[in-house]
Amino acid sequence: MVSSSSSMLIKISDWASDLGFSEISVANIETSEKLNDPIKKYTKWIKSGFHGEMTYLKESIPIRRSPDRLLRGVKRAIMVSMNYLPQNSSIDWREKEINGLKQSKKATVSIFARGKDYHRIMRKRLSKLAKKISKEVGPYGFRACVDSAPILEVELAQESGLGWRGKNTLLLKKNQGSFFFLGTLLTDLPLKVSQGKEKNLCGTCNACLEKCPTKAFVGPYLLDARKCISYLTIENRGIIDLSMRHLIGNRIYGCDDCQLVCPWNKYAKLSPLSEFDVKNELDNRSLLDLFEWDENQFLSNHSGSAILRISYEMWLRNIAVALGNAGTALKKNKVQNDGSISKIKETLLTRINEDKPILKSHLVWALKQCQ
Ligand code: SF4
Ligand code: SF4
Repeated sequence: MVSSSSSMLIKISDWASDLGFSEISVANIETSEKLNDPIKKYTKWIKSGFHGEMTYLKESIPIRRSPDRLLRGVKRAIMVSMNYLPQNSSIDWREKEINGLKQSKKATVSIFARGKDYHRIMRKRLSKLAKKISKEVGPYGFRACVDSAPILEVELAQESGLGWRGKNTLLLKKNQGSFFFLGTLLTDLPLKVSQGKEKNLCGTCNACLEKCPTKAFVGPYLLDARKCISYLTIENRGIIDLSMRHLIGNRIYGCDDCQLVCPWNKYAKLSPLSEFDVKNELDNRSLLDLFEWDENQFLSNHSGSAILRISYEMWLRNIAVALGNAGTALKKNKVQNDGSISKIKETLLTRINEDKPILKSHLVWALKQCQ
């Protein structure tokens, strides 16, 4: 059968590369037995409550167990990766990122969110890949998924040799690190399955576990999402726990620390796509500057960005926490007299009477940090 031949896989791989994907692999999901162990681990993780308020993760267990529910007669998952480091990143980009975290008045936005929303970009390109395959083999069943359907994507990617799951729970590749997105093209084609798992090369390294600012890892390969800054600043729609606020530093949307310290990320590759270029200078903005955006600016400046997954009030909430932390850091460095702390207080006070109850409680906290 044409679709199960090696030459077909080579063609798919070439088309994927033309579309900006860095690598592909094919996982067999015709029989769900292989998913038994990962599902057990996943269910245990949910039962421990580590998923926090992401209830959809719990509700989706039956679908994760039976991918057939996502696409009738599904046989394979074509796993794709796409590098997202902005094209113009300098050679010392990691040092710059780490230094940026120490500049308390500057905002840090996770690298994945500085350009256009990867969900749309990847889904569009996966659909194009699906059409190319269909021109070759005729009509067939497929479904393109980029975080849009409950799939154990890291497990499938690992199983099919795309990389290994690192102790920081992310997929890692020896020659590319972890600054890439994963996508899945489910198909009912009996494609040749990729062979050979990539060896886990974490070894004795524990850098990610040790450097996580909130100690969100319960142990290697086990994350308590409730403590993760990505969860706190993006998924959590309400109040940020008091015990976590001072650990967030100047991170206002997501966190990259457990990737930045990973030695394999010295091999991270730049994206071939300009869509991931930094917009609105989000790699070099002051907290005060971003806090002053009104809602229209927030919506128009972030148009097409993943940042619009959070509301304007959450955006301000996150910046307010970072401004409170800036106040604390400035006091520690004894720079009260250069006017920075007064300016922060003044700016926080401009929003204290706005009808935003969640923001208000964070403003009050941030003002206290500046006393
Ligand atoms: S993203 Fe940040 S907070 Fe979350 S686990 Fe990694 S280092 Fe910790
Ligand atoms: S920092 Fe070390 S332990 Fe963590 S994922 Fe990277 S190699 Fe593995």
